[in-house]
Order: sequence, then C-alpha cells, then structure tokens
Amino acid sequence: MQAKLLLSYNIRMKKYDVIVIGGGLAGIIASLELKKRGVNCALIEAKDRIGKKILASGNGKCNILNSNLSSDKYNSNFVDYVIDKYNYNYLHNYYSNMGIVLKEDQEGRVYPYSESATTILSVLLSQLEKYNVDIILNSKVLSISKKDCFVIKMENESILGDKIIMASGSNASFGFNSHSILGDFGHKVTKLKQTLVPLKTNAFIGANGVRAKTNLSLYIEGKNVFSENGELLFKDGSISGILAFKASSFIAREMVKNNCDKVNAEAVIDFMPEYSKEEVKEILDKSPLDNPLIGVLHKAIALNVEKKGDIVDSIKEYRCKIDGLTNLDSAQVTSGGLSTSQFDNKTFESKLQKGLYAIGEVLDVDGECGGYNLSFALMSALACVDGIYANKG
Ligand SMILES: Cc1cc2nc3c(=O)[nH]c(=O)nc-3n(C[C@H](O)[C@H](O)[C@H](O)COP(=O)(O)OP(=O)(O)OC[C@H]3O[C@@H](n4cnc5c(N)ncnc54)[C@H](O)[C@@H]3O)c2cc1C
Repeated sequence: MQAKLLLSYNIRMKKYDVIVIGGGLAGIIASLELKKRGVNCALIEAKDRIGKKILASGNGKCNILNSNLSSDKYNSNFVDYVIDKYNYNYLHNYYSNMGIVLKEDQEGRVYPYSESATTILSVLLSQLEKYNVDIILNSKVLSISKKDCFVIKMENESILGDKIIMASGSNASFGFNSHSILGDFGHKVTKLKQTLVPLKTNAFIGANGVRAKTNLSLYIEGKNVFSENGELLFKDGSISGILAFKASSFIAREMVKNNCDKVNAEAVIDFMPEYSKEEVKEILDKSPLDNPLIGVLHKAIALNVEKKGDIVDSIKEYRCKIDGLTNLDSAQVTSGGLSTSQFDNKTFESKLQKGLYAIGEVLDVDGECGGYNLSFALMSALACVDGIYANKG
C-alpha cells in the first residue's frame, strides 16, 4: 500500500535529491554549493523574493564577516568545529573568489567594498542563475513527513526530496518562526527570545536621539556579565546602539537558559571612560561654569546625571534598571531555536532523522553583533554541504 502511494506521489510530484527550505544566506549558499557539485536540489522560499535579511543587515551595508571570528562570540560551543574548519581567512576567500570585494573597519567588521548589501545579494543571485538552481518562491512549507523519501507540503503543492535542509531562520524583524515543522521528528525548540535589540529603560528623560561614547557594564542578578566601551544612542524608553545590542545578548541568553521573560538586570554607564574619578573631580572643580556638567556632557544627559546625587559618581557609574528587551520586530536575531544537542556539529544532520539537516539561525546559535550571525549562516551551510557530499561520495 505504501509503495503504491509513493508511486502516485512520483507521478504527480517533482522529486529532488535535496530540498532546501528558506532563501536566506544559509539556504542560498547551501543550494548553490550543492548545485555546483551536481546535486539536484531546489530552494523553497515563503516570500516573493530571497535574501531579504541580507538586504536589511548592517543598516543596509551588510556586516558580513568579522576578522575577530572565534567561538567566544557565540552562545554555545556547538560552533567550535565549524569555526576551526572554516576560519576567517577561509570565509573571506570564499566571498573574494566569488568576486565580492570586501573591506574591514577598525573593529574588524567586514563589509562589501560598496558598503551596500545589494552587492552581496546581486552576486549571490548571479551565481544561483549561473548554476541554474531551482527556486520556488511564494511557497511556505507547512509540514514535512517521511515515507520512502521526505514529502514537503506547501500551501499549493507538495514535492519530494531524499534529503532536507531546514534553513528557515527566525522570526526576528520580518522573519517566520517555522521551527516547529521539525517537531514531528522529535526535534525540540528552546525558548525563543529577541536579541541584538535596544534595552528597555526609563532612566533617561528628554534625551531622545542623543549619542554618547561611554563604557557600559551589565549586571545580571548582581553579577557583572558584560563591560565594553562604545557608543550608546538614547531613546525614549530605551538605550540603543551597537553597545546596547551587544549587552542585550546576555539578557536574552539568560532568559532562554531559565525559560523566563524577566531577569534582574542593571546597567552601569561611565560617561567619561578615559578619566578616573579623581580626574573627573578635578575637571569639574576647575570649571568656571556655574553648572560644570553642561561643559562636559550633552545637556540632556547632564540633566539626568544631576538628578542622581553625587555628580562624580553619577558620571562614572550611572546606574539604571533594565526593564527588559524591546520588541521582536526591532530585533536582528533570536536567541534560542532548534536544540543543538539533537544535531551533529560537523555535518548539521539530525541525530533523530537521517537525511534531515538544519543550518543558520533556525538553530539555537546566536552570535554577537558584528557580522557573526551571517558568518554562522555561511559556515553551517558549507559544513552541511560538505557533509552531504562526503556521504554521497
Ligand atoms: C535588521 C537586521 C540587521 C542585521 N544585521 C546583521 C549584520 O550586519 N551582520 C550579521 O551577521 N547579521 C545581521 N543580522 C542577522 C542576520 O541577518 C541573520 O542572522 C541571518 O540572515 C540568518 O540567515 P538564515 O539564512 O539562517 O535565515 P534568514 O535570513 O532568516 O532566512 C530564512 C528564510 O526562510 C524563509 N522561511 C521561513 N519559514 C519558511 C517556510 N516555512 N517555508 C519557506 N520559507 C520559509 C524566510 O522567509 C527567510 O527568507 C541582521 C538581521 C536583521 C533583521
């Protein structure tokens, strides 16, 4: 009976060696690399075009890599193997060999030379066209089942595949949450929490739009978990900027770890990190101004600092309660995802279902702000294809 059923599937449905679900960077690279090696594959995308998050990344500039790539930039040592195998030079060469010219800033962040994400996507699209990858757009995958092969059910049709690569990303910003599709195979999804987002706080009144070079330290349950110099952007009800995004990872990861939506977090901001407390006191004492603060800090920040009491302490250690993370639609990434303990960290194959793979952000892997998430999308796609190809050969 099952053989008969499959025969009728084969008559009506197209069959591929590998079906890749999700046209983000991970899915694009996986389908491209498979096709280059002669594997018959299709790329399925729910939206009307692929690569939308690539275009949105890095404020439209696409921070694609970082020369400081290392395991400690991620939430889990699941990444150790791929970082060792596809190190920064390997990834840089990968893009260069495709014809993408890259440049690096002082913090090691790497962008296309054009400083436009469209350069990355244009080159990837030209490669997909060159290698004739089948792309199925406007087709959201609803379920996957396994008979003799995988049956992929979309809204209007179904197709068959010997292998599946799940590259459906996350619902951060404008993405989808499709993790549960693998639930039928026993795959667990950890708590999903928005990360690389502004930190919620009402500690700064009237400072909307003000930027300041500071040191930000984050304390969770009284323990110092993060401390770094950089720029903060103050907004009504939140603090933003790369520094705040970096700190948000620690809060999100704590929430994922404890499966909760609240943590006891406090930020301590040093508004004059180059100076010691004694030097700050000296600067203020020497000032000819009635209110020396306005000669040192932005007026809106000065007004908030003044309210705190001891001026020197408030400049050097401005304490504010963090009330949580701003919404998912302002997040770059989600912390949490498909539990990595159920996947092989060399090939990204499921330990529960042979022939099923997951790559990129759909997994419970999140990287710091600075190009690490797109790096993981690339590394995991390359490892997965190498794994499939090794099994094939
Ligand atoms: C505003 C913004 C800025 C960012 N900036 C940076 C940056 O500068 N550097 C960096 O490293 N990272 C950045 N990130 C994060 C980075 O873009 C993502 O981590 C990365 O793109 C994830 O790639 P992915 O291929 O795993 O998933 P995605 O890019 O999310 O792709 C998944 C694809 O799967 C599709 N899909 C989902 N479910 C289904 C389904 N059921 N059926 C069919 N298709 C489906 C989605 O529509 C999507 O196209 C940014 C993210 C955002 C939102």
